[in-house]
Amino acid sequence: MPQNPSTTVESAESATETSPETPLETARRQLERAGSHVDVDRSIVERLTYPAAVHEVTIPLRRDDGTVEMYRGYRAQHDSVRGPYKGGLRYHPGVDREEVMGLAMWMTWKCAVVDLPFGGAKGGVNVDPKALSEAETERLTRRFTNELRDVIGPTTDIPAPDMGTDAQTMAWIMDTYSVQEAETVGAVVTGKPTAIGGSKGREEAPGRSVAIVSRELLEYYEYPLSEATVAVQGFGSVGANAARLLDEWGATVVAVSDINGAAYDPDGLDTSSIPTHGEEPEAVTSHAEETIENEALLELDVDLLVPSAVGNVITEANASNVRADLIVEGANGPITSHADSILAEREIPVVPDILANAGGVTVSYFEWVQDINHRTWSLQRVNQELETVMIDAWNAVRQEVEQKDIGWRDAAYVVALSRIAAAHESRGLWP
Ligand code: NAD
Repeated sequence: MPQNPSTTVESAESATETSPETPLETARRQLERAGSHVDVDRSIVERLTYPAAVHEVTIPLRRDDGTVEMYRGYRAQHDSVRGPYKGGLRYHPGVDREEVMGLAMWMTWKCAVVDLPFGGAKGGVNVDPKALSEAETERLTRRFTNELRDVIGPTTDIPAPDMGTDAQTMAWIMDTYSVQEAETVGAVVTGKPTAIGGSKGREEAPGRSVAIVSRELLEYYEYPLSEATVAVQGFGSVGANAARLLDEWGATVVAVSDINGAAYDPDGLDTSSIPTHGEEPEAVTSHAEETIENEALLELDVDLLVPSAVGNVITEANASNVRADLIVEGANGPITSHADSILAEREIPVVPDILANAGGVTVSYFEWVQDINHRTWSLQRVNQELETVMIDAWNAVRQEVEQKDIGWRDAAYVVALSRIAAAHESRGLWP
């Protein structure tokens, strides 16, 4: 299922929403909203409405049975005013031109809100990765890399894993690109295995940033962490790392879930003993003493709700039933725009995905920095630097919340747009 706020068509719950948005519509609407809060030249907003380029390629794949099939691949590059393009490559049947355009814009905002010297990109192949053997996936990846060779590179556009791709996919891209360049070019992708220049702490980073932002949000609204109750939907890379860190830092994590349902204990779960999606897929409920439905988790009376599974789980249909005092978006786009309005009316603060889970792209940036400098950072250094980046971003967003009296989502977009607009103003438009 597509994991962004706008691809609501696959969500049964969101069928009640009157106007489901595409990722592109959502990204443009958020740009417009931010533009209304910032004194920015209208022509800059207009420029940011469009991607700089969308590359569309055909990938011929020889299947294991000898037949040849064609696949469509894409790379959308949105804006590079602050640095090279950066963003994931996904292998998914829902990938199309418009989706990658929207998600590339999203990456521009995400990179800017945490002040990374990158612009946004996104790409992928319209394919069901589960239908391919490993050898087929490798051939597809290497041919796709070849087709994108002229538009990616360590100083131009740096892909990373996304849905349906992983560290091994990045290793094949890095190898293909390096063979063609006749030199090892680690910095052409991030999210690589550590054996070839991947960063320590990269896998844990989005969950860690979600935990850091959750901790700051709780403190801001004067909920002592040691007394705070937390529910986390999704126990994968993002959800499990966030839940375990919050648990470790003293919060009471009362519920965590996977696709089968939630483990629930009002006195607090031992999150370290619950298997993550990576450790034992979809096993959260099989070890639990008490379970509840995923829908019920979203409606628990907790201090903090952290939806970290998939997009579009809080919709017009259930937003009024949410009883959490605070929400941090761990997943990309777990709240539809209709639901967002309902939560705003109910004065439930929501920290958006572009800030909360930006730890992933931040440690990708650290990986790139390590690669181009031929250095390896310790896990301790990675986590310290991530903490600094996240706290700086948090403070920048908090200032906008306070000064402009706007919500956390709008404030995050204001911070991002202000930085991008300032760069465009400085560089100007040539010719
Ligand atoms: P994952 O595959 O590791 O884990 C997803 C978890 O959600 C699993 O526990 C799964 O069982 C559960 N889940 C799936 N569908 C569900 C449903 N309908 N209801 C409840 N639970 C469900 O995924 P992840 O990498 O943790 O990503 C989660 C979200 O975070 C996605 O929106 C992703 O785009 C976003 N994200 C991930 C990263 C990253 O680097 N991993 C970075 C930024 C954002």
